[in-house]
Amino acid sequence: MNPEVLLSEGALGLGVELTPEMLRLFMRYLSELKAWNTKINLTSLRDDRDIVIGHFLDSISAVRFMPEKGRLLDIGSGAGFPGIPIKLVIRPLEVMLIDSSHKKTAFMREIVRVLGLDGVNIVCGRAEDERNGIERRSFDRVITRAVGPIPEILRLSEPYLAPAGRIILMRGRRGGDEWAAAGEKVKDRFKLVDRSEFTLPYGGQSRAILAVELS
Ligand code: SAM
Repeated sequence: MNPEVLLSEGALGLGVELTPEMLRLFMRYLSELKAWNTKINLTSLRDDRDIVIGHFLDSISAVRFMPEKGRLLDIGSGAGFPGIPIKLVIRPLEVMLIDSSHKKTAFMREIVRVLGLDGVNIVCGRAEDERNGIERRSFDRVITRAVGPIPEILRLSEPYLAPAGRIILMRGRRGGDEWAAAGEKVKDRFKLVDRSEFTLPYGGQSRAILAVELS
């Protein structure tokens, strides 16, 4: 199956209909990612099918946890996941991407330029650095994928949350167990308000997405 059809049908399986224009932008993202990946190591996934399932569809699986508009912060977004695919699907979202790696933020800047995305800001720095220039208490959603254990993610994310904002934790199949094991300190401060457990399309890996709010 060609990557465009793979993406389009896989997204439908996740309840997301991609327009022809969105598909065009995703295919451009795919070709830029592969081209840069020959020079700098952005991702261990190399072929079209793995990138479409493991990066694009996995990122799109978080769309249902997003508002229709508002502000999203993606901490440790690497080569743009999940923040850039989410932005491609929900264009009114204002998206902030932060990563501590210079080469990854350089790639993200280039992809945002090539795809012509507005309302996306990229910061090279650490989430815990108070001088990183990102406004505190101002994001409707703070999302992370593959950045660290849940208590650490909550510690990094909390300062950025707007009142009534949600932290979206993209986890592997043990996500529910990780939450259960997170400890009383975490559960006193945060409550789990939504969750989804599923397998990625085309027999992909099991995933859990957890949404938490401040208690
Ligand atoms: N979220 C992307 C994904 O799922 O493909 C990248 C995951 S990668 C395993 C983790 C990324 O988080 C790395 O690019 C790293 O530079 C970044 N990172 C880790 N800790 C960070 C922190 N405290 N602040 C900003 N970026 C961080």
